[in-house]
Amino acid sequence: MARSKAGLCLILWLAAVSSALLMSSAHGSTAKGQALNAKGQALNPDTPHIIFTGSEFYPPLQWLDTNRQPLGFLLELQQAMAATGIFTAEHKLQRWNDALEAVRNGEVQAVALIASEQRQQWYDFTAPIYYVAHAIFTRTNERFYGRIDQLGERRVAVVEGAYAQLELLANGYSVNTVLARDELHCLQLVAQQQADACIEVIATSRHLIADYELDLHQASPPFWPQPYSFGVQKGDSKTLQLLNTALAEIIIDGSYQQVYERWLPYLEWQPKTLVDYLQQFAWLLALLLALALAGLVWLLQLRRQLAFVASHDLFTGLLRRNEFVERVNQRLSRGENGVLVAVRINNLDSVMTAFSYQTSIAMLQSFARRLDNPRVIEKSHFGAGLFALWVNELSDIDEFFHFIATPLAIDVVDIDPSEVMGLAVREPGVDAEELSRRALTALSYAQGHGYHWLEYQQDFEPDPEDLLLLREFARRGNNDFVLHFQPQFNARRRKIDAAEALVRWQHPERGLLGPLRFIGLLEDAGLITQLTRWVIAESVRVLQQQLLGPDLQRLSINVTPHDLLEPGFVSFVRDSVASIDPRQLCFEITETGFFEDSQQARGILDELVAIGIQCSVDDFGTGHASLSYLSLFPVSEVKLDRSFVCDVITNERNRAIVKSSIELAHVLGIEVTAEGVEDVATFELLQRLGCDRIQGFHIAKPGLPADIKPLIG
Ligand code: C2E
Ligand code: MG
Ligand code: MG
Repeated sequence: MARSKAGLCLILWLAAVSSALLMSSAHGSTAKGQALNAKGQALNPDTPHIIFTGSEFYPPLQWLDTNRQPLGFLLELQQAMAATGIFTAEHKLQRWNDALEAVRNGEVQAVALIASEQRQQWYDFTAPIYYVAHAIFTRTNERFYGRIDQLGERRVAVVEGAYAQLELLANGYSVNTVLARDELHCLQLVAQQQADACIEVIATSRHLIADYELDLHQASPPFWPQPYSFGVQKGDSKTLQLLNTALAEIIIDGSYQQVYERWLPYLEWQPKTLVDYLQQFAWLLALLLALALAGLVWLLQLRRQLAFVASHDLFTGLLRRNEFVERVNQRLSRGENGVLVAVRINNLDSVMTAFSYQTSIAMLQSFARRLDNPRVIEKSHFGAGLFALWVNELSDIDEFFHFIATPLAIDVVDIDPSEVMGLAVREPGVDAEELSRRALTALSYAQGHGYHWLEYQQDFEPDPEDLLLLREFARRGNNDFVLHFQPQFNARRRKIDAAEALVRWQHPERGLLGPLRFIGLLEDAGLITQLTRWVIAESVRVLQQQLLGPDLQRLSINVTPHDLLEPGFVSFVRDSVASIDPRQLCFEITETGFFEDSQQARGILDELVAIGIQCSVDDFGTGHASLSYLSLFPVSEVKLDRSFVCDVITNERNRAIVKSSIELAHVLGIEVTAEGVEDVATFELLQRLGCDRIQGFHIAKPGLPADIKPLIG
């Protein structure tokens, strides 16, 4: 088969140059057995080693060049992760099915793949690193398919072991599958008429079709948009934790963004137009220019077009990132005042899933048209729904947010763009690059803390101490954690018969750290689930070995909303409690857990309750949830927050809230525990008000089992 060298050569060149750059900046930290990390510091010889596998021919994500050296977006991402010093990395690309098998049987540790539900039985997945969609590909003269079932019983090629094969099987489509070795073979089967169509990931297929000049085309809209993650052998929580931490680090330190931006033109690649080819071969243009003076005018015009394509985003016609930064820098150097605004449209993915790929693009374009406003001086689309604007005057930020966030008319529907905005105001000595970074930092902070918009402040910067703690968590795992237990007084039985498990980090250098120092941090880095799993396992051990005595009726554990939504959480809990009576366990969840995806949260709580676990609302009263709303969930207890309880004697308003909460909870069949009771007067008043359980320093401070056990029973 004739092979178009143009496209592939360019990708190979880009990959070689950029990976050389990355390697040099990483001091070669990815080669096996090497001793320096990204900052040139000596690596601990105990640094874990991770072997990544993947398909040997899957451009632009990963592939082997003619010298069998691995290249691609994933490879660079893996190198950037290793450059953090959290682990050393090795890359072993092979046939896709062999790659999957190698992770399943533990020969290698990680593979990047579509994180589908079915695959969860064999792999555990990191946070997503990218998103891919599939489509049907056929010979060019053949029809367009609106849906997969229109393929009827045609012969459809899929790569053996790939997501498409699993998905066709799981959904019982009647197509006759033809199995292919790899993505190229899959497309070739269609080109050689050994299959009528194939189902493949769009980005890679488009590359292969062009590079190998196959007479094929995309014959359906995109479907199955799926997150792409690193998968590890099921249960290999150590590798999972290392990968998640390294991912969190490269996202925070900006190297993910650098790799992503370098590969963006290839990941979001479209079949090349004449203009693209000319752009890539500027030298050819120069030659033509010399040879054909007669074509000078035409070429000048063409050049202008090329410059436009090079500096503008193809979807929106807005500036690309580099051009935007350059223009803002020019304005800054002329002394113009202004604000750099970063805006992200968060619901592009869900619009694509609910409507179509075309609708999500139309949404981007419609939003770009809205920016044609005299206030917006420069505007840019950085990609994936992230926009940056240079605005000359912003006296009313709320009004500006309202202006950009009103619904967008697309075809016949109005779609609400779910947006978040970060702002950075011009400051002397700060260039456009830094202003963009600050605006993005403000945007991420706003997103993480539930704001529509925020203006940059120094406080939003990640604390280097936090990064250190995260690294130590990655290195030491759960080894340094201890559980303390705080007793709960049962007002009806008039004795202490329950306790709450409260985690502490016994840090070798920093001493005993309270949970408020690290829980939020682990949540933000996506690492909380590992700690929660340890707390559950440890609590089960305490119950099973009766470390708090035989009279303990119930042990409460704090569970975050994030834990609830983690796939596999319920089955982990089910397996963990097999050795005890699950009714002894109660999961405390803060009010926010009942808002985020409340439908899904309710389903999960139902499953936990079906196992026998009790569920409780922690810190009740600090959020906005009413008791009647919470009673729609299967909760058996609310815990009144300490802020109401602490001054219930002196503060009449809080007393009224506590009293009516207890009364209403009892009407709804929910028990009430008061937290933070520090004195006898409060203790007695709460009993008079009908409180079922009481917890606080007045009963006992949290302590180790040996100290708490004598108080129980
Ligand atoms: P929480 O679940 O509301 O736990 C009660 C907190 O109040 C504990 O703080 C406890 O030591 C403190 N406390 C109890 N009685 C009194 C009192 O009378 N006066 C005062 N001033 N404080 C009292 P701690 O241990 O620092 O925990 C803080 C929070 O950290 C917990 O609040 C909980 O949200 C979280 N946390 C603790 N352990 C875990 C865990 O294993 N997993 C998760 N996800 N979160 C945890
Ligand atoms: Mg609690
Ligand atoms: Mg609480």
